[in-house]
Amino acid sequence: MSFKKYAILLCLASIVCSCEKDEVDETPLISEATKIEHEACITKPLITANQTDLRSAVLSNYLWGTGQTIKVSVEGGTTAMQSKTKKCIMEWMEFANVFFYVTTPSDADIRITITTYSGSSGSGSSYLGTSVLNATDRSVKLKLGTYASDYELSRVILHELGHTLGFVHEHQAYSSQIPWNKEAVYQWAEQYYGLTREETDVNILDDMSVYGLKYIIKDPSSIMTYYIPGNLTDYKFSTGWNYKLSTGDKQIAGQAYPYKNTYRLCRTVRKCGKHFYCATSELLNNPYEDLWSGFEGYQCSILSTKESGTVPMYRYAHSNGDHFFTTNYNELGSGRLGYKSEGIIGYVYPSKVAGTMPLYRYVNTKTGEHFYTTNYSELGSGRYDFKPEGIACYVLPIVSVR
Ligand SMILES: [Zn+2]
Repeated sequence: MSFKKYAILLCLASIVCSCEKDEVDETPLISEATKIEHEACITKPLITANQTDLRSAVLSNYLWGTGQTIKVSVEGGTTAMQSKTKKCIMEWMEFANVFFYVTTPSDADIRITITTYSGSSGSGSSYLGTSVLNATDRSVKLKLGTYASDYELSRVILHELGHTLGFVHEHQAYSSQIPWNKEAVYQWAEQYYGLTREETDVNILDDMSVYGLKYIIKDPSSIMTYYIPGNLTDYKFSTGWNYKLSTGDKQIAGQAYPYKNTYRLCRTVRKCGKHFYCATSELLNNPYEDLWSGFEGYQCSILSTKESGTVPMYRYAHSNGDHFFTTNYNELGSGRLGYKSEGIIGYVYPSKVAGTMPLYRYVNTKTGEHFYTTNYSELGSGRYDFKPEGIACYVLPIVSVR
């Protein structure tokens, strides 16, 4: 069987209705259960030149570069669906060192388009890794039910984004070991998803390990696992619906796109008007929704573990909502002046080192808020009641290949 058919990976998306908007979020981005109706992932041939033999290249040749900027646009759907899509992008980015940058559709490497329908589930389609660059539509298509739960949206969106990072269906990495009742599979796939036998082979039955996949982890809880009811294997094997990134997904993302020891610092503005800086996980998992709704992009990258030449960055929280960051422990010690210590958030450089840039610190003379930015032109020598307090430290750029 030619491997050409695997050049594109589609997950069933029969378009019911479209309500696309032209709204595009130009801010830089970035990283459970109701009754499910259907989800199918269809692999179909992609006609492109020079794809003579991709047999050993499923994942590795379709990987983006580590730390690479991937420009994406997000169109259509509701504002909440677009926000959810960006959250899912950030979830992957927490573990995969790529930088999805939200831009206009005409500028995007990948166009994520959302259509809605009256229902409670979702489905989608996407290309496998960098093969999207060979596609004329360059699209990830998401068809999301207007009544779909947050978990269901996570299931569909995280799965499709996994394909864009080069992930194949998890169960197809060892499909030949699954005791399929093939006739039952063909009938089921046709009945629920309208798949032909060949499409069923490609999307469900074919074992892709023969093509030299990299970073395989057998993990039926993977977001990339296909739902397999027991009757397809005479009840010898089954998988359920998965709604979040599994431990294996995170491990593979980290192996395919290693961060080493850096992470991106998110900047958000709280409803109280004060800025806050934190890791992606803190932003997405925080019980206070205003952390996410005020997301203003990534500020910089910092080290998660100590390296030679770096010093700790301490974080303090004030009851008035201000957060204070300093490399000088003596400024607030274990906490004083109304500030409570929140510990070390990472490691930074006290002086200029090749590849680093300054993080400027300001204080608002009226509210007492502290503000940090790598972009000097934001506040320059001081404006909007903010007074410069010098360079807090030196940090790494958002896109960091170390
Ligand atoms: Zn899929």
